[in-house]
Amino acid sequence: MTDADVAELKARVCDAIDARADDIIEFAKDVQSEPELGYKEVETTKKVVSLFESLDLDVETELAITGARARVGGDGSDDEFVAAILGELDALVNPDHPLADPETGAVHACGHNAQLAHLVGAAFGLVEGEAIDGLDAAVEFVAVPAEEYLDLDYRRNLVESGEIEFFGGKQELIRRGYVDDWDMAVMMHAGSDEPDRVVTSNFSTNGFIGKFVTYLGREAHAGAAPEEGVNALNAAMLGMNAVHAQRETFADEDYVRVHPIITRGGDGVNVVPAEVTMESYVRAKTIDAVDEANESVNRALRSGALAVGGDVEIEDFPGYMPLSTNQTIVDAYDDNVRELLGEEALSPGQPHLAGSTDMGDITQLVPGIHPWTGGFEGAVHARDFRVVDEEMAYIVPAKLTACTLIDVLTDPESREKLREAKAEKRTREEYLDAVRGFRATETESHLD
Ligand SMILES: [Zn+2]
Ligand SMILES: [Zn+2]
Repeated sequence: MTDADVAELKARVCDAIDARADDIIEFAKDVQSEPELGYKEVETTKKVVSLFESLDLDVETELAITGARARVGGDGSDDEFVAAILGELDALVNPDHPLADPETGAVHACGHNAQLAHLVGAAFGLVEGEAIDGLDAAVEFVAVPAEEYLDLDYRRNLVESGEIEFFGGKQELIRRGYVDDWDMAVMMHAGSDEPDRVVTSNFSTNGFIGKFVTYLGREAHAGAAPEEGVNALNAAMLGMNAVHAQRETFADEDYVRVHPIITRGGDGVNVVPAEVTMESYVRAKTIDAVDEANESVNRALRSGALAVGGDVEIEDFPGYMPLSTNQTIVDAYDDNVRELLGEEALSPGQPHLAGSTDMGDITQLVPGIHPWTGGFEGAVHARDFRVVDEEMAYIVPAKLTACTLIDVLTDPESREKLREAKAEKRTREEYLDAVRGFRATETESHLD
């Protein structure tokens, strides 16, 4: 395809997205008005499916409890090139947000509704812009469950009943084999506190281990006979302070983050607390650094039980893997940012972010990108997070993704580079071995 052909194709796709702009924005608001937490996105999935079906796409649902995908183009051969476009279905909990569901506290304060708008927008553009046939590749549109790592009691029940193995939806997609034949994966994410028309596409993020901690002591009357008790809250406080004492040992370049919370601190003020529970993440830039920090955090947590003569159980669960973005896709994406928004829209941002996403897991297997795009005021997850530029939040990202796919897929050299990059990444089995290695239980017992 000549440069002029590619430019013509991209213009046609952008026109097709513009023609659907009202539908895309209406859809984004519809999703926002009915926020659902991870693995519960039943209505949100239906909304996505209904738009996919309006394009006559062949849709598969219940990928991992919820979720949907539709594949177009390609020849169905084992060697066909497959490009996946992702959008996350789930909301998070922030009852203080003005748009929060009054019953569940769920709200789209991470802008995942914008991701879905971008997903269906790209589908409108590529399908109605009649671009698919020119790409010599399959394009898979994927609405993914459960990115936010929360609501964990519910998810632990799903794990225990065998419905899922992992808390993250993309991890489940990997485990179930949906990702095996992808050659590239593209999404967008709402920029935090980023009202302007800017984009940051090239960065890495932390990986992490998730942790449940249960301290057990012995109940006693807190006034009349505390000497007969073993105070589990004191054990937890000592454990947490011992964690703080590890912080000076974390190397700056590892970006370690440990942020425990107490989820049950005692049941009645006049009873010595006999059971105190905590949750935490241990995050770091590399898997080795996560492992190393986790070992010292667990040692510190155990010390609290040792000090008061109580028990502690520490359950580690796989968190998310570090994100690494692919330079070939980043370069194509940035070129399209220049074309659509101008050079000044490219914001270098931080090279490494200490937050985490299960897109990191995808990039352990498949070359991918996870760009931050503007149009949003307020920090993601905060009560004042909101869309301030609908075109930038919902429409422009669809064009950027669709045009990036066109550039990469019509360029043999880029396809070759992506195939090479994929060959250097983990296989599904290697990935599963690595994440399953994070599941562990440690105990320290001193109660009689
Ligand atoms: Zn989030
Ligand atoms: Zn998010």
